[in-house]
Amino acid sequence: MTFSDRFPSDRTLVRGRVLSFKRRPQRAGDTDAYTYLEDGVIVIDAGKVTDVIDASEIGRVGGKGVVLHDFSGKLILPGFIDTHIHFPQTQVIASYGEQLLEWLTRYTFPAESRYGDPAFAAAQARFFIDELLRNGTTTAVCYGSVHKGAAEALLTESERRGTAMFVGKTAMDRNAPPDVLDTAQSAYDDTASLITAWHGRGRQKVVITPRFAITSTPEQLEALGNLARAHPDCLVQTHLSENLEEIATVERLFPERSDYLDVYDHYGLVGPKSLMGHAIHLTPREIVRMSESGAVAVFCPTSNLFIGSGLFDYKGLEGEPYPVRIALATDVGGGTSYSMLATAAEAYKVMQLRGQKLSAIEAFHLMTRGNAEALGEPDLGRIEPGAHADLVVLDSTARPAMAHRLAAGNCDLEEELFVLMTLGGEQNVQEVFIGGQPQGLHRADE
Ligand SMILES: [Zn+2]
Repeated sequence: MTFSDRFPSDRTLVRGRVLSFKRRPQRAGDTDAYTYLEDGVIVIDAGKVTDVIDASEIGRVGGKGVVLHDFSGKLILPGFIDTHIHFPQTQVIASYGEQLLEWLTRYTFPAESRYGDPAFAAAQARFFIDELLRNGTTTAVCYGSVHKGAAEALLTESERRGTAMFVGKTAMDRNAPPDVLDTAQSAYDDTASLITAWHGRGRQKVVITPRFAITSTPEQLEALGNLARAHPDCLVQTHLSENLEEIATVERLFPERSDYLDVYDHYGLVGPKSLMGHAIHLTPREIVRMSESGAVAVFCPTSNLFIGSGLFDYKGLEGEPYPVRIALATDVGGGTSYSMLATAAEAYKVMQLRGQKLSAIEAFHLMTRGNAEALGEPDLGRIEPGAHADLVVLDSTARPAMAHRLAAGNCDLEEELFVLMTLGGEQNVQEVFIGGQPQGLHRADE
């Protein structure tokens, strides 16, 4: 519907059950950690949230030309944020039978070699962002391939859509086939030129991305460390202690370093802007250093289970006396789902196997505000004045099994969220808004 009185405006209103987190929940039932309006209206001007009000007050924000998207009864959350995903692995996902190092050699490196073709990379970028949006993910931190052009293709597509993406050209100069190798110098030059052209251009950001210590020479890690020092506002992403064979290989390649994390630390790649993928098999010293440095351990449960890497120690890392910052991610294509809901379900199961609990509100906080904080992005992952109006609209009853489960009666919000993460996925995403613009997953009433 369109309001027809008072003042002209390009204001947008989105109505529904609005949920947004204020801080990290301490436990299930920590209702002070979030705001929830059973019938709320998000007021959006120029792509940003300007107010969140009760629907009873809708008259005061309407006006000529104001468009209302009415999702009454549906849950509206900040768009999900995926903090670790591989753009060139959309045709690697669900590859059979190997653990990390063989999986890379047999499936991943051949697939990534195709991204040297710019037209191929551009077509894949369109699919990739479509797939993220279908799953309610509006921002992702992405590994590209070794090719600068592939990173440019993804950044270009993201700019066209208006999404906020973090993209790295993956650097690797040894222990892989020649067609996916760069050099220390070219990794530095290509990443530096991407930063100049793209970092902070609109909503796009560039991530300094050494794949991991096995595929980077000391010279390359040093070059990228220098780049990180020169650009302290850029995120750094890499992989850390995912697999025992990987760790043993790193120890052989860097015998002078005290442990795996110390390799990255030595080259200036460990700090509060560092996203360390996996971080499963950490030593006590590494945990202390992760905590002190403010680096983020990125939990990728579907990948850790699928590649058989191990069980992330969420509560062990989160706890005192050396709390480590934690983010949640899919790690497609080692991961098996683009859905952050499905990812949260597997996180819950990994934690069960460790005798730990992940409450639904902790999980939904992680997918939204928690992950935004891991990226140092205060205007993402929340629905409050000043935040980007990137939203996901969820229908908890989209699957018969879920509707049936919820019909059992007296489900409160947290129980509904737990059903959503345990049984839910792409089919529950009814619509996504990017900067206040619906993306057409669903034809909203206007
Ligand atoms: Zn990964």
